[in-house]
Amino acid sequence: MAEIPGHHCPGCGNRLKFNPRHPWHFCGACFGRAADADGRRLVFGNVSLSGGLAWAWADDPEHRDKEVPGIVCLIDARPVLVSEARFGGVVAEPLTAGMKKGNAIDLASKGGLAKVRASMRSAGKGVH
Ligand SMILES: [Zn+2]
Repeated sequence: MAEIPGHHCPGCGNRLKFNPRHPWHFCGACFGRAADADGRRLVFGNVSLSGGLAWAWADDPEHRDKEVPGIVCLIDARPVLVSEARFGGVVAEPLTAGMKKGNAIDLASKGGLAKVRASMRSAGKGVH
């Protein structure tokens, strides 16, 4: 049997349970510092019990953007990819150069943020 590696949070070094699907996931406390390119805090969740990734700005939780494939944002000013964990829940991992981010929406750059705001506004989600 292969040895199961230990895991510590890439943000703060806290020891965490190793997850082979998400080998570098952040701990909850670091995840709680996730922010967009303007430094505005973000919150994440599942759309329903059966899954689906949703996010919102922490100061505007009513305007949730639902069913997104993934979210690129920042933890401690470094890019991370937020995605749906395989068995429910939401997971954040460092976004490294070789990582596939698919169609993840980009909240980590000013340009990406402007695009997201515009598309949410046109979808009538009342973003301000
Ligand atoms: Zn941490």
